[in-house]
Amino acid sequence: MSATHRLTAPAPGWTATTDVVVVGSGVAGLTVALNARKAGLRTMVVTKAMLDDGSTRWAQGGIAAALGEGDTPAQHLDDTLVAGAGICDEEAVRTLVTEGPDAVRRLIAVGAAFDRGTDGEILLTREGGHHRRRIAHAGGDATGAEISRALVEAVRSDPGVELIEHALVLDLLTDADGHAAGLTLHVMGEGQRDGVGAVRARAVVLATGGMGQVFSATTNPAVSTGDGVALALRAGAAVTDLEFVQFHPTVLWLGPEAEGQQPLVSEAVRGEGAHLVDAHGTRFMLGQHELAELAPRDIVAKAITRRMQEQGAEHMYLDGRHFGAEMWEQRFPTILASCRAHGIDPVTEPIPVTPAAHYASGGIRTDRHGRTSVPGLYACGEVACTGVHGANRLASNSLLEGLVFAERIAADLADRHHRDELPERAVDVAAARAARPVPLPAPESRAEIQRLMSRGAGVLRSAASMAGAAAGLALLAEQAHAHVAEEKPADPRVETWEVANLLLVSTALVAAAAQREETRGCHWREDFPERDDAHWRRHLITTLTASGDPVSTPEEQ
Ligand SMILES: Cc1cc2nc3c(=O)[nH]c(=O)nc-3n(C[C@H](O)[C@H](O)[C@H](O)COP(=O)(O)OP(=O)(O)OC[C@H]3O[C@@H](n4cnc5c(N)ncnc54)[C@H](O)[C@@H]3O)c2cc1C
Repeated sequence: MSATHRLTAPAPGWTATTDVVVVGSGVAGLTVALNARKAGLRTMVVTKAMLDDGSTRWAQGGIAAALGEGDTPAQHLDDTLVAGAGICDEEAVRTLVTEGPDAVRRLIAVGAAFDRGTDGEILLTREGGHHRRRIAHAGGDATGAEISRALVEAVRSDPGVELIEHALVLDLLTDADGHAAGLTLHVMGEGQRDGVGAVRARAVVLATGGMGQVFSATTNPAVSTGDGVALALRAGAAVTDLEFVQFHPTVLWLGPEAEGQQPLVSEAVRGEGAHLVDAHGTRFMLGQHELAELAPRDIVAKAITRRMQEQGAEHMYLDGRHFGAEMWEQRFPTILASCRAHGIDPVTEPIPVTPAAHYASGGIRTDRHGRTSVPGLYACGEVACTGVHGANRLASNSLLEGLVFAERIAADLADRHHRDELPERAVDVAAARAARPVPLPAPESRAEIQRLMSRGAGVLRSAASMAGAAAGLALLAEQAHAHVAEEKPADPRVETWEVANLLLVSTALVAAAAQREETRGCHWREDFPERDDAHWRRHLITTLTASGDPVSTPEEQ
């Protein structure tokens, strides 16, 4: 099947050719690229900003794997299944936890340096939902920065990996059989490859990260606009579990008007013993869950939101004063610096915190080889839904998922290549032209989308709140159509393409969340507060209709 819709954009003015084109340069994209290249495939990485401009660099807590004495993949599996609230794909989880420890060792071999004790062993900490110390970290709380540094250095020193930075990927290209044959992209800047072009490839890997920017408050960087999910929907691929957005319970509260990326106060701070308290100093997580402050994230985010509502407060507090200055400086230097930069000193005062959108458990549906429902199109990392997270991601499983499933994609590509099943593809130009151009919303719609989503489809959801969000989003889409009809369309450029992606992904997310009439994992319906296994122990699969509207269909039980 060829794409039925595409972003409004000029026709490609240049073409490049490779074997595998990887979109995105976080832990997932760079791991695919390094391994595909090792397998002898010509590999190109295309990335929207600089190589290290994704969520990977921001990860603080660490990467989970059964590396410690007495810990086993089976125990890691159990904790992951509990967090996933009944809809994890158990085989995918088994793959994750079994292949995880060696994948981390291979990451170390690439050059990532994890924190070690005086005995030389990797130091492991605990995070919410884990019954064991199994989180490896680097630079105290700078794990993602170290992983990103090591991978970026490795690809930069490999002349076999071609890198295109500042390039926004627009849409998928297919051949006459509907197999992925490349993509269209817009390269910012001046050079031989400037403006809109096409990359022809035998296989396409999407590793575009998350979609946190659909909400006003998020831990995700500016590049996390859900482009991969939007592209996949337009290309006819199945997307699933979009309603399961994890809200991180504790980001630094920066004031009532704060928007966009906000500093995270890692779960590891609670792991080391900091307490959540209200303005009166009362520890409100006690008695709510056996793990108190270390309960799974959704429980903590809901408890904070409830307490804020009950008390009419704008935030709660995280109290780690008892750590003392030395521990703050050594164990959490990044968080300490970011709090101090905003005028809060965690050594002497509790930190004001509030929940914010953090992680998309859903995404482009893949099998355990990272294959999507479009042949030749792969996805891994946060943009993908392999089924390991179910209705809620267990802390620090995402870097691991990116790593493990990226390796599996590269292995699948290598295998197909060696069996001569990865031929060159001729782009079906007529099909690409026939795809309907999506009208582009005005760039100012970005803030409106974020407000609608935070208000209507945030931590607390109901049919009424989501109907409000859906109506507001539909109005923005109508306005974009009207501007085209009046011959006053918004210019095709990075800002408007991103907003078009945000609008499509938000509309799809709200449609799925409104349909799931139950509370499960990180999807909390105030009007359906119970988990309903009889009807909802299954996934919602989202695709686009011929008119370009997202529609979610419950999977057979
Ligand atoms: C503050 C923070 C803390 C976190 N802490 C942890 C943690 O401790 N442990 C853990 O396991 N997880 C953590 N996570 C989650 C984890 O960091 C991410 O899920 C993971 O890094 C995602 O990796 P990725 O490779 O899929 O995507 P990313 O690292 O986000 O990379 C996506 C890439 O795609 C590019 N891209 C996007 N759209 C386009 C486009 N249209 N064209 C071209 N390129 C595009 C981006 O520029 C970027 O290079 C954290 C996340 C955040 C934000």
